[in-house]
Amino acid sequence: MKYQKTLDHVINELEKISNYNYASSIIYWDLETEAPKEGIEKASQVLGFYSGESYRILTDLEFNKNIDLLLENIDLLDPINKKIIIETKKDIENIKKIPLNEYKEYNELLSKAQSIWAEAREKNNFSLFLPYLKKIITYKQKYVNYKGYNEHPYDALLDDYEPGITVKQLDIFFDNLKNRLVPLILKINKKKNFISNDILKLDYPIEKQKEFSIFIAKYLGFDFKRGLLRESTHPFSMSLNKYDVRMTTRYFLNDLQSSLFGTIHESGHSIYEQNIGEDICNTRLGGGNSMGIHESQSRLYENLIARSMEFWIPIYPKLQETFPENLKDIPLDLFYKAINKSQSDLIRVEADELTYSLHIILRYEIEKELIEGKIIPEDLPKIWNERMEKYLGTVPDSDSNGVLQDVHWAAGLFGYFPSYALGSANASQIMNSMKNKLNVDDILKEGKLEKIKEYLKENIHKFGKLKDPNEIMEIATKEIPNSKYYVDYLIEKYSKLYEI
Ligand SMILES: [Zn+2]
Repeated sequence: MKYQKTLDHVINELEKISNYNYASSIIYWDLETEAPKEGIEKASQVLGFYSGESYRILTDLEFNKNIDLLLENIDLLDPINKKIIIETKKDIENIKKIPLNEYKEYNELLSKAQSIWAEAREKNNFSLFLPYLKKIITYKQKYVNYKGYNEHPYDALLDDYEPGITVKQLDIFFDNLKNRLVPLILKINKKKNFISNDILKLDYPIEKQKEFSIFIAKYLGFDFKRGLLRESTHPFSMSLNKYDVRMTTRYFLNDLQSSLFGTIHESGHSIYEQNIGEDICNTRLGGGNSMGIHESQSRLYENLIARSMEFWIPIYPKLQETFPENLKDIPLDLFYKAINKSQSDLIRVEADELTYSLHIILRYEIEKELIEGKIIPEDLPKIWNERMEKYLGTVPDSDSNGVLQDVHWAAGLFGYFPSYALGSANASQIMNSMKNKLNVDDILKEGKLEKIKEYLKENIHKFGKLKDPNEIMEIATKEIPNSKYYVDYLIEKYSKLYEI
C-alpha cells in the first residue's frame, strides 16, 4: 500500500495511547476496589498525567497530518483500518476543542470526586459532594459548547455514548414508555402485596453468596481464566482487553437479589468483552460498542434470561442446596415470583424491570435541566425527592438512598443514563430476534447457556466497535432500534404475574 509508512506511524502512536489507557484502567480499578484513602491524591495525579500524554499524541501536528492524509485515501485501507482512522479523527475533533489544562484538571477532579462521593454517600452528607458536583457540571456546560450541538446542549453529551441520538428522539422514546407503562405500574401499586419477596431478604451468609456468584458467572459463560470478580460500592465491569476482563458486585446479608443479579448483569457486560473478535481485539475497535448496545447485553442476561422461569429450572436446586435454611421448602414458582416482584423502590440498581425506566426518566430530566441551567445543583436533593414521589409514588428516607445513590455524576457520566433504557429496549428486540432462530426456552431448560453466548458472539459481540450501533442492531434484528418489543414484553409479563 502506498501509504503503509503513514499508517504504521499512526498505528504505532495509537498503540501508545492504548498502553496509557491500560495503565489508567488498572489505577482506576485499584481506586475502586483496593486503594487506601491516603493514596488517592497521587493516583489521581498519575491518571491526569496519562490522559495528558494521550492528549499530546492526538493533538500532535505530524500525527494529525498523517491522519488527514489517510482520510484522503481512505478507500485504500481495509475495513478495520478504515474504521480506526475515522474513529480517531472523531476523537481528535472532540479533544482539540478542549484546552489541555482544563482537560487534565477535569480528569484529576473526577478521580477525587468519586472517592468523595463514596464518603458522602456513606455519611449521608450531600453537602460534602456538592462542591465537586458543581465543578463537574460547570465543566460539562463548557464542554457542550466546545463540542457543539445542533438543537439541545444535552445532545452533545448524549453523542458521547449513543452517537446520533438526540433529546428530540429521547423525549418521544420516554413519552412512549411513560404513556404505556405508568398505567400498569399504578394498577400494580394497588396490588402491592400480591407478590412477596420476603424470602429473598432473610439472612444469606455472605461467604455462600460469594460462592454462588462465582458459580452463576461461570454458568452464564464468563471465563475466569480471562477475568475476575471482586467487590465495590457500585458494581461495574472493566475490560483491559479480551484476555483480562474484570467485574465487581456487592454483598448484603439480607438481600440475595443484589449480589445475584448484580453479578449476572456485570457478567453480561463481561462476556461481551471476552467475545470480541480476534481480528480487532488489539486495536482501538476491540471493545464493546455504544452504551446502549453494552447495556442490552447486561440486561438481556439479567432480565430476559435470568428472570425467566426456564433459566432457573436446571439450577434452582443448586441455589436451594446453597441456602437450605431459606429455600429448602420454597417451590420454584414462588421463587420466580419473588425475583419478579414489582415495587416502586428507591434504588435504581435494585429496581425491578417494570419500574426501572422511570428511574431513568427522572435522571434524564434532571441532567437535561442541569446542563441547560434550568435547575441548580444545590436544589438537587429536594428536586430528586419531589420527582421520586411524582413518578414512583415514594420518597427517599435519606440522600444516600436518593440523590447520592449513583456514582455516575461523580464519574462525569452525564448523558449516560438514557443508555440504560435504550439498552433494555435493545435487549428485548434482540431476544425477540434470537427466539426466531433458536429455541431459547429449551436451551435454558437444558442449561445449555453456551448456545446463547455463541449466538450473541456471532451476531453482536465479535464486531466490537467495528460497526455503528444501528448497524449492529440491523445485523442482529433486521430493524433499527425501537421500543416496541420492550414495552410489549413488560406489559405481557407483568399483566400475567399480577393477574391484571
Ligand atoms: Zn450495566
